[in-house]
Order: sequence, then structure tokens, then C-alpha cells
Amino acid sequence: MTVTLHNRRLTGPMAWTSTADTSTAGSWRNQRPRLIPEKCTGCNVCWKFCPEPAITIVGKKVDFELDVCKGCGVCAEVCAPEAIEMVPEESA
Ligand code: SF4
Ligand code: SF4
Repeated sequence: MTVTLHNRRLTGPMAWTSTADTSTAGSWRNQRPRLIPEKCTGCNVCWKFCPEPAITIVGKKVDFELDVCKGCGVCAEVCAPEAIEMVPEESA
């Protein structure tokens, strides 16, 4: 699957449906998203592409629901202003 977004080609297998059981994602995830608030424009693109119900956005306030976030990094990849960075779970 190839998706072009913000002049970036995203290629490879992508999960667009929710995994069967994400209630324990925090126990196996090895990285998590972290917002860089000053870069966020509130565009909602990360929310649209997140394969889980793991992002809520109110204005420019982005929250990650870490119980269901699986650390796939899609949100960081699609964020044009690079307002999301993926950090190792142990340093988050
Ligand atoms: S894609 Fe990036 S800039 Fe847009 S709302 Fe998400 S974090 Fe903010
Ligand atoms: S890493 Fe980002 S895109 Fe992936 S599940 Fe977590 S919040 Fe959603």
C-alpha cells in the first residue's frame, strides 16, 4: 500500500483496522508518541491516520490514549510540522 501525504510517500504494510485486543498495548509497546506542542498546528491529520482510537484533539491540544496506542509511529510519520516524536518506552 502506498499513500502520498504532504509530499511524502508512505509505503509498506499499514494497519488501518483496530487490532483485536489493544487493552494491554502499554505492556508490549516499545515506543510511544510525544507531542512537541509548539510545533502543532491542530490540523487533525494524526487523528485521521491513527489506526486506533488513541488520539484526541481539542484545538491544538493533542492527547494520546496510551492504553490503546500501539506505538506504530504513523502519527509521527504523517505530521507535516513534525510535532510528534517517537520516544523509547523506557525514556518516556
Ligand atoms: S498531525 Fe501534527 S500538527 Fe497536526 S494535529 Fe497532529 S500533532 Fe498537531
Ligand atoms: S503511535 Fe500514533 S498512530 Fe500509532 S497507535 Fe499510537 S497514537 Fe496512534
